[in-house]
Amino acid sequence: MSSPNAESTAFRSALEVIRAVEPRVADAIGAELADQRESLKLIASENYASPATLLAMGNWFSDKYAEGTVGRRFYAGCQNVDTVEALAAEHARELFGASHAYVQPHSGIDANLVAFWAILADRVESPALKRAQVRQVNDLTEEDWFALRRELGDQRMLGMSLDAGGHLTHGFRPNISGKMFDQRSYGTDPATGLIDYDRVAEAAREFRPLILVAGYSAYPRKVNFRIMREIADSVGATFMVDMAHFAGLVAGKVFTGDFDPVPHAHIVTTTTHKSLRGPRGGMVLCGPELADQVDRGCPMVLGGPLPHVMAAKAVALAEARRPDFADYAQRIVDNAQALAEGLLGRGAKLVTGGTDNHLVLIDVSGYGLTGRQAEQALLDSGIVTNRNAVPQDPNGAWYTSGIRIGTPALTTRGLGAAEMDATAELIHTVLSQTTAGSNADGTPSKAKYVLDPALADKVSRQATDLLSTHPLYPSVTLT
Ligand SMILES: *Cc1c(COP(=O)(O)O)cnc(C)c1O
Repeated sequence: MSSPNAESTAFRSALEVIRAVEPRVADAIGAELADQRESLKLIASENYASPATLLAMGNWFSDKYAEGTVGRRFYAGCQNVDTVEALAAEHARELFGASHAYVQPHSGIDANLVAFWAILADRVESPALKRAQVRQVNDLTEEDWFALRRELGDQRMLGMSLDAGGHLTHGFRPNISGKMFDQRSYGTDPATGLIDYDRVAEAAREFRPLILVAGYSAYPRKVNFRIMREIADSVGATFMVDMAHFAGLVAGKVFTGDFDPVPHAHIVTTTTHKSLRGPRGGMVLCGPELADQVDRGCPMVLGGPLPHVMAAKAVALAEARRPDFADYAQRIVDNAQALAEGLLGRGAKLVTGGTDNHLVLIDVSGYGLTGRQAEQALLDSGIVTNRNAVPQDPNGAWYTSGIRIGTPALTTRGLGAAEMDATAELIHTVLSQTTAGSNADGTPSKAKYVLDPALADKVSRQATDLLSTHPLYPSVTLT
């Protein structure tokens, strides 16, 4: 551990240097820390990276171009970038037990694009695609492009439906994957809210996808990746797992055996900034069969690598290999379960009736609210969450009927079961005291709501009190 004093000095000095050029940026950075310290952050996809991870990003690695891979760069002078990229990849391989790790993707979406392209390039017999591999993409003739689109446009992807908790990048329209693939999705059992593997197998048999995708942003349960792999094998599909949300639980060995995606999937993608608690970024893990295609990520679908972020990935992955990370991962799940129990005990309705990962999905129709109304009422009360569709959501993807909450961030702050129960009390108080509003013409509104501002203030103060016992970045003082 570095001394707390060193951490304070580092951030203070950095701000002093920035302030001399553009003080408003320095002020905004300081204000962001203050805001993060004061908000009860229950956004399931966010976390707080360590000072070492944050500091590894602010340096001259940012100036370096490093297209290519370790030892095979299109630019000279990449020896130090090679060092950090190789280190990040080594930590990733060791941490997850993967034979290959590609640490260049800039985000989770980019990691998925790398994986999709690698699978297409590996699996699809396309003369146009072969030409695209051997020549510069911008050398392709117009005819090649049309052929490529035709050949690739026939390919199929089977992923989890959005309202069951799947992600946009698994073949849905707002993402390019929805244009690249003919997509069909599997949902969850309406009675239990759980994945019904027999139904997934049936959909796979009927649809015969090239890629079967597992992984989610809003499913509060474990997924059995062994069964999913068997389904993929039964139809000759490539099995891809997007563990963006739960990579920290895999790293911390909370998800093992059938629930660890790495031994079962052909290819695994992830973000590095969610439960894994690293810098903003993405990563791809795979076996030797796909490694060469994955390594073509840049320049095939990615812009130049971000060496400063790869340095931070190496730091964060080194942290995740330490025994205390396993402890952290277990506490994330313990806290989510405590939060779920606290909510259930007060009468809240939860999708699947609970959780075995880091997130809880409240069905706020039980409170007579839409997700949008609930999200805003909670925000007024100092509780940061996000609205999310529930399975077969009657209010659609914009207003929704759900609130997604997660514990990775609060667990990093050190909050435990008692604070989770107190948090459940605050959430329940706000939601049970909020009523749906109406439009000017008297019809019910899906956005407007009524909440006594005095109550919102009171809850806000209680939330701040709850946090004051567990300061964020206690080692860092900026003044
Ligand atoms: C968050 C998420 C992504 C996208 O990650 P970005 O870094 O925001 O691009 C992809 N897949 C899943 C399942 C996610 O939860």
